[in-house]
Amino acid sequence: MVKILDTTLREGEQTPGVYFDGHIKLAIADLLDEIGIDIIEAGHPMVTPEIHEAVYQLARHGYRAKIAAHARSLQRDVDLALECGAQFIGIFYSVASERLGQVFRKDLNSAIDQIVNVIRYAKNQNPDLLIRYTPEDTVRSPFENVVQASCAAVEAGADIISVADTTGFMAPGTEHNMYDFIARLKDALAQSGHQPMIAVHCHNDRGLALANALDGYRAGAEIIDASVLGLGERAGIVDLAQLLLALKEVFQVQNNCRLEKLLPLYQLVSQYAGLPIPDNFPIVGQNAFTHCAGVHTHAAVQNPVHYQSLDPSLVGRNMSVALDHMSGISSVQWALDQLGLEYTTDLLKRILIHIKQIGQKGRTVDFHELKHLVEWCKKHPLK
Ligand SMILES: [Zn+2]
Repeated sequence: MVKILDTTLREGEQTPGVYFDGHIKLAIADLLDEIGIDIIEAGHPMVTPEIHEAVYQLARHGYRAKIAAHARSLQRDVDLALECGAQFIGIFYSVASERLGQVFRKDLNSAIDQIVNVIRYAKNQNPDLLIRYTPEDTVRSPFENVVQASCAAVEAGADIISVADTTGFMAPGTEHNMYDFIARLKDALAQSGHQPMIAVHCHNDRGLALANALDGYRAGAEIIDASVLGLGERAGIVDLAQLLLALKEVFQVQNNCRLEKLLPLYQLVSQYAGLPIPDNFPIVGQNAFTHCAGVHTHAAVQNPVHYQSLDPSLVGRNMSVALDHMSGISSVQWALDQLGLEYTTDLLKRILIHIKQIGQKGRTVDFHELKHLVEWCKKHPLK
């Protein structure tokens, strides 16, 4: 069964201006755990003492999910993660020749020595620790470097190799696609006698993060990274709700996640990240299950499947109809039925005229206003 790693608290805090206080981190982790997320990446303890404290608190909270800490390939970062009691540690280090030369002033072999020493050290400190090694910018690094470093990491004790599309470079169906990359990597590792779990971490720079992650899943990735609202560096990463729904509805993955908890989670994260959920955001956006055009509404009220490929009740939501200049008679009828109000065809027509006029001013009529409009139209028949 594919595992989900949520990194709202680590990658998500790499969104400019986003920081969650310790008690908010705990509230977010509570919901992630209730939903059934397998791994909660809680932060990089080296960054600030507050993040260290939050990782420490989350690791001791008794969640069903494993609590993960991020670490550079340095013993002092590993010590901090261990001090926090993290059950999972993600160690990253580049193996791209140019970056090694220009940024780290190292050659590949000394980089691999550093990775191996740190992983061996971490595993010796705690044999139960799950260790993930990420060759940063995996997909744009020389493939042979990735294989060499991954094999060495696994031999040193790494359980997971994460394939990071750090710049959102991959595109399904092209020469650079996640499916082929992961299939090729699994083959190369197997030829050396290694079968680590494979994780995928996909950035959304070109809007393809989810498509790439699902491509990786089809190739056998066992862990997929995501975050609430896709928060993360630049354009962020895979959105958690979209990933969970795609796995369930498109790939029939039965992981028993409590999807009805997604909306409260998104509302919480949105509030404390200071970033509103866009109205048209899939699954959790205000308009995600709202029909507007009269033609759509007419068909959708008969049977929502005509204009919905996702059942809103999966996430504890209901289908809705917006009342504005695009509405038709069936939109008004639906709304009055919802309110339990009686009407005649003539009244429906009169209300619709008003709704269209209001809609052209650039707003919708909500149920509260609709009640007033019904009263007005009853008393003011059209001449
Ligand atoms: Zn990332």
